[in-house]
Amino acid sequence: MIPALDIDSLEHRLVAGDRAALARAITLVESRRADHQVAARTLLSRLMPLTGRAQRIGITGVPGAGKSTTIERFGCNLVEAGHRVAVLAVDPSSGRHGGSILGDKTRMEQLSVQANAFIRPSPSGGALGGVARKTREAMLLCEAAGFDVVIIETVGVGQSETVVADMVDIFLALLIPGGGDELQGIKKGLIELADLLVINKADADPAKAERSARDYRNALHILTPAHPDWTPPVLTASGLTGQGLDVLWTQILRHREVMTANGARAARRADQDARWMWAMVRDRLEDAFKTAPAVAALVPDLETAVREGEVPASAAADRLLAAFGL
Ligand code: GDP
Repeated sequence: MIPALDIDSLEHRLVAGDRAALARAITLVESRRADHQVAARTLLSRLMPLTGRAQRIGITGVPGAGKSTTIERFGCNLVEAGHRVAVLAVDPSSGRHGGSILGDKTRMEQLSVQANAFIRPSPSGGALGGVARKTREAMLLCEAAGFDVVIIETVGVGQSETVVADMVDIFLALLIPGGGDELQGIKKGLIELADLLVINKADADPAKAERSARDYRNALHILTPAHPDWTPPVLTASGLTGQGLDVLWTQILRHREVMTANGARAARRADQDARWMWAMVRDRLEDAFKTAPAVAALVPDLETAVREGEVPASAAADRLLAAFGL
């Protein structure tokens, strides 16, 4: 058990902006130990009034699109302008097969040494739902610690883009200019999810990047925008030289202004919160269910019997639920 006193002191240090305390609090959130989870929940409830103040930015892109390079440059610009920037990641592959798609290499070296930046790799292992919950709670902790810009990075593995889009105010797709049929390489659905498209590496071949941007703009015109007040802009930029990143920030602020004025931003957060509540209920219920001794005693044989076709799945579910008292 974490003594109450420790939580008090952790809370105070975190609220004062102490990065070591923030890192420790995130470790509590990520821990599987039951006492850590209780402590994490206590801490989060206490800090709740201090959350919600950051500009929450999601960013996706295939490996090599330039996410680290761009976030590093963009983050350094923001720190220089007086912001406190936290960078989190959602990478469901992390920790499995000993590697992660977002990379274990030391990333964002310049940003990570800034006193007003905080970088945390993806929580490792486990299903996307668990990784997402931990990242979302880490985001709330960052906000309580006074970080006013939180960037959540992901690669498009499975549903990770949807999950990240569902915890931020604005979701960016970082794309690389290609020749020919631009839209081939893009996953169906990503364009619908993105509030802003950035064609990166514009320094390498500006004309090609412009052509790419045009193709995406045309494609976006065919789609009905997710919100009538916002047609996702398509920008060209370079994470390497920093060109276009000022426009990117201006557009993020414009999105914030427009969507605050029409109420869409508050509605998006409200929907997200409600969905998270149910996701949490599902997680905890499933957990309580699976760890109940009467259920756990039945599961191995029953699951085998279902797999072998000896017991219908519905009958097995009935027996498990009955063992749980339902
Ligand atoms: P990530 O996998 O999406 O995080 O991509 P990285 O940031 O690691 O970048 C992949 C490669 O592209 C690296 O060699 C970068 O130096 C390079 N790169 C990233 N951004 C740019 C850019 O704006 N211009 C150019 N020319 N190269 C870039």
